[in-house]
Amino acid sequence: MAKIGFIGLGNMGGPMAANLVKAGHQVRGFDLNPAALAALEAAGGTRAGSAAEAAQGAEAIVTMLPAGEHVREVWMHQGGLIEAAVAQGQPLLIDCSTIDVASARTVAEAAAAAGLAMLDAPVSGGTVGAAAGTLTFMVGGTEEAFARARPVLAAMGKTIVHAGAPGAGQAAKICNNMMLSINMIGVSEGFLLAQKLGLDWDKLWAITSTATAQSWALSNYCPAPGPVPNAPSNRDYAPGFMAALMLKDVKLAQAAADATGSPTPLATLATALYQKLVDAGEGARDFSAIFRWLAEQERGKLG
Ligand code: NAD
Repeated sequence: MAKIGFIGLGNMGGPMAANLVKAGHQVRGFDLNPAALAALEAAGGTRAGSAAEAAQGAEAIVTMLPAGEHVREVWMHQGGLIEAAVAQGQPLLIDCSTIDVASARTVAEAAAAAGLAMLDAPVSGGTVGAAAGTLTFMVGGTEEAFARARPVLAAMGKTIVHAGAPGAGQAAKICNNMMLSINMIGVSEGFLLAQKLGLDWDKLWAITSTATAQSWALSNYCPAPGPVPNAPSNRDYAPGFMAALMLKDVKLAQAAADATGSPTPLATLATALYQKLVDAGEGARDFSAIFRWLAEQERGKLG
């Protein structure tokens, strides 16, 4: 079993680190939020006073941070993780955050220049998947680094796919979240129309979750309160996956589509709607709160 440094113990990183502990790894973690450090200790890990301290003696270092700027800052700033990792020998570096491909490649190049292997390994499966250890990992990096990472990732996920070269994991992730962002709005529109037509949401869910409209957003994360008891819709849309983070991801997808000339008419509209949700002060709610926000809008005013 390995010694693992884990930085970013939030909604996702917290339960992921706890699963590493459960699998027998020694986890030393760091987060800016003291409550997250206390939760790691309660799960059997050890707290560190800084990211660099979490790296001490580590054979693998994992980050699960909000966005590209946090990842670049934590890994590359002076006294940061790459510098700390070099002093530990040859630890494997794994970033599980969802960030832009350019930041992922910049950090991987800085790691390579320091003689270290780094993978981008973003995840899908949400906080439920993080807690259950059933995440899907999409991994960018060399075959050799991927093989080294497998036992670590297997303690946190069920499906582990090597997507390609550095940055390929992030490319797969933004495509996934672009599809999810559109799908969540589609499910929301269906449940709202059903309500107007006098249909019961539990009945609609029982039908559509086994019919051709079925999807993860519908079956596991229904944005209308009721049908899926552990969905954020049943706890006032507490995240889950914050709307602000979904907006970040759809903007990353839009930037990638602009750069490559890929047509994304629905994702462009979805991005505008999540922007309105965040502008309405709902950024810290789960992204499925788009359902409640849509319910408050008047037909014809949204284009
Ligand atoms: P979160 O905000 O709950 O957690 C991020 C954590 O990073 C926080 O605890 C914060 O204190 C910590 N942090 C920020 N800057 C730091 C620094 N400099 N040093 C140490 N700690 C720092 O977010 P989350 O929902 O856990 O998401 C993390 C990443 O995972 C994001 O990139 C997100 O897009 C991605 N993601 C989230 C979900 C989900 O359902 N929540 C699913 C898949 C992927």
